[in-house]
Amino acid sequence: AGQAWETDAVIIGAGPVGLFAVFELGLLDIKAHLIDILDKVGGQCAELYPEKPIYDIPAWPIITGQEITDRLLEQIAPFGAKYHLGEMAVAVEKLEQDDGTTKWKVTTDQGTSVIARCILIAAGGGSFQPKKPPIPGIDGFEYIGAGIGVHYAVRKMEAFRGKRIVISGGGDSALDWTLNLQPIAERVTLMHRRDDFRAAPHSVAQMRKLVEEGKMDLIIGQATALSGETGHKLTGVTIEDNDGKEIHIDADTFLPFFGLTMKLGPVAEFGLNLHENLIPVDTEKFETSTPQIFAIGDINYYPGKLKLILSGFHEGALAAQAVFRYVFPDKKLRFQYTTSSSDLQKKLGVK
Ligand code: FAD
Repeated sequence: AGQAWETDAVIIGAGPVGLFAVFELGLLDIKAHLIDILDKVGGQCAELYPEKPIYDIPAWPIITGQEITDRLLEQIAPFGAKYHLGEMAVAVEKLEQDDGTTKWKVTTDQGTSVIARCILIAAGGGSFQPKKPPIPGIDGFEYIGAGIGVHYAVRKMEAFRGKRIVISGGGDSALDWTLNLQPIAERVTLMHRRDDFRAAPHSVAQMRKLVEEGKMDLIIGQATALSGETGHKLTGVTIEDNDGKEIHIDADTFLPFFGLTMKLGPVAEFGLNLHENLIPVDTEKFETSTPQIFAIGDINYYPGKLKLILSGFHEGALAAQAVFRYVFPDKKLRFQYTTSSSDLQKKLGVK
């Protein structure tokens, strides 16, 4: 994070479509970086339905969301794309070059910047963003420091060592982080509105055992207020239990895990034409209203668009051809089959 990079093409979104674009670009010798706000690749497939079967991927009669992600990673491995995960692309800037051409700079919320000839926006339904609990003034306590205040994800566990942590939620994230942070925290309190958890049964059982042994606390209720100094430090969480009684817990850290929603997010600010929160493109190159910026996958719009993974793969292949012309204006593009081209096979490491 915080580093400045330069490459040929930067892909915003590491869902299935962004991942496959690495392959199509790679066959044409175009180097790529990928940026995703999630800390893993695979977009909706990996985040929303990793274990659900997909039945309409050509030649895969059945494949789960996680499997297609893993297969794509394997397929694109030869091209050595650079991944910037856990980072949200927040701005794009046009850079006029001395030779009269244009490059683009994409900046993330972590301060990373990537300069490239072309941008491929593969942002799907938008960036995954945490759902926030409805607590007045919660914004003022968000990310006030490493391991303190309100966080919606745990990036570096070490930052939470020795902290008094309140975790809220009943799903796998809430339970996994309860179990992972309990050994290193000063004290962990888990709070959930019902004494019924959606998380994996063995995690719930482990949590209940820790409560019985007095090693952590469990409160059935909802957070109603945060105390401390806005923007500086959190000192406690006020919880209303199911009998309407108020309980105050001293805390340095509050971690609500209420799931994720998809919001178009910063892509709306990139200065591109939009059509109902989608990015209109042509169907020859999948280029947006701005030359050198492409949009592929669920994020784009054109007459007849189908929000299917297979459509996104096709769009990536055609966009890659157009990107080639910007990246290598003097080179001739030769159409080749992977089956018969020893040049392509060399790139794939199979020859
Ligand atoms: P996504 O998978 O949405 O990935 C986009 C990525 O971009 C996300 O990871 C997001 O975090 C990231 N991102 C967005 N904005 C930013 C930003 N500013 N900075 C950083 N990162 C950003 N399709 C099928 O073809 N067959 C099926 O059977 C099928 N079943 C489905 C079942 C379910 C339950 C769901 C929810 C979807 C299903 N789909 C199916 C649809 C399919 O998952 C999508 O078409 C596909 O995921 C689109 O891929 P994508 O790469 O365009 O976008």
